[in-house]
Amino acid sequence: MHSPHLSPSSRIAIAGAGLLGRLVAWQLARAGHPVDVFDPLPDPTARGAAGWTAAGMLSPVAELECADADVFALGLRSLDLWPDLVAGLPAGVDLHRRGSLLLAHRGDEGSAQRVVGLLADKAPPGHAPQSLPLNELASLEPDVRGPAHAWLLPHEGQIDTVQAMAALAEGARSAGARFHWGQAVTRTEAGALHTGEGRFTADWVFDLRGTGARPQLPVRGVRGEILHLHAPGVRLSRPVRLLHPRHRVYIVPRRDDRILVGASEIESEDRSPISLRTTVELLAAAHSVLPALAEARVVHTETNLRPALPDNLPRLESEPGLTRINGLFRHGWLIAPALAERALVTLQIPETSA
Ligand SMILES: Cc1cc2nc3c(=O)[nH]c(=O)nc-3n(C[C@H](O)[C@H](O)[C@H](O)COP(=O)(O)OP(=O)(O)OC[C@H]3O[C@@H](n4cnc5c(N)ncnc54)[C@H](O)[C@@H]3O)c2cc1C
Repeated sequence: MHSPHLSPSSRIAIAGAGLLGRLVAWQLARAGHPVDVFDPLPDPTARGAAGWTAAGMLSPVAELECADADVFALGLRSLDLWPDLVAGLPAGVDLHRRGSLLLAHRGDEGSAQRVVGLLADKAPPGHAPQSLPLNELASLEPDVRGPAHAWLLPHEGQIDTVQAMAALAEGARSAGARFHWGQAVTRTEAGALHTGEGRFTADWVFDLRGTGARPQLPVRGVRGEILHLHAPGVRLSRPVRLLHPRHRVYIVPRRDDRILVGASEIESEDRSPISLRTTVELLAAAHSVLPALAEARVVHTETNLRPALPDNLPRLESEPGLTRINGLFRHGWLIAPALAERALVTLQIPETSA
């Protein structure tokens, strides 16, 4: 029989070394627990987890288009948690909170107003999209040209996911967590997980396998394709989203003149490279609001699968000896710190110090 709570010396086993696996491993290792992490990927730099591919927008309001009040609350809480988390990591991670912009072209007012109205209805007072006159848009983002309408979401942020994935793994490793790369977990249960090498026991197991948690959870992968541009001289300070009647497009700045353009959302588990159609649609839309991108170079493309449950909402399940978290879908970076906090507080694990 497992205790419903963890003691300070409880041994932890984690299935999955993606975003959640790294975050939970780091927090528990820092709190002094012996931690073992299992993942089928060959090493910490292999980019199989969706966490690497994500644009890293921390957008509680914009995500309300396809999320509920709990995701919004988890997002706001995570925005408060990220600064201390990042400050405690062993390497620098770019984290900004400059807000984000919604843009719409003339002629697309109908679909844009539908989305803005939906966000305004679902967001609590003080968080609704703020209509932004075009002269103010020009002073915030001088290279954004072409849209006829703009709205500011002032509280939103962004994180560099590639830096964060690397730093979380290194933070966990240097705090004593042991990573077992190349080992897929076939099943989890209270107090144990199963790999090809046998049964591994622990006082508490965290099942954080994303799309790999089937058949124990009805999770599916939702294909997302994204492009990385090198765009020297293009000025962009915050994520922008174009509200287009046919597809959603966002443009996210990163350091070293990099700009990400994403992302498709396709009901398919196909991980093959980006399609011509997605490339054309995303880049044409991005160029239509940021014409300075014309001479940018496409330096990288990436495809990955967002782990989603049937209701597209996150799920946290706990029983003595086992916690499962899954279904982070398109908001993993937005909500992971608060979900991890919720899981660990329930288990009465002492707070870690940053
Ligand atoms: C194109 C794209 C853009 C995105 N943009 C954003 C964004 O802007 N903002 C945002 O908040 N979120 C975004 N996301 C979503 C975010 O990346 C995910 O919600 C998040 O990564 C989910 O975290 P996770 O730890 O549950 O899963 P993952 O990060 O996918 O990690 C799962 C891990 O489990 C491992 N695993 C799989 N099978 C097994 C097994 N059998 N045994 C052990 N381990 C296993 C995998 O190898 C992987 O390492 C985006 C995702 C994509 C694809």
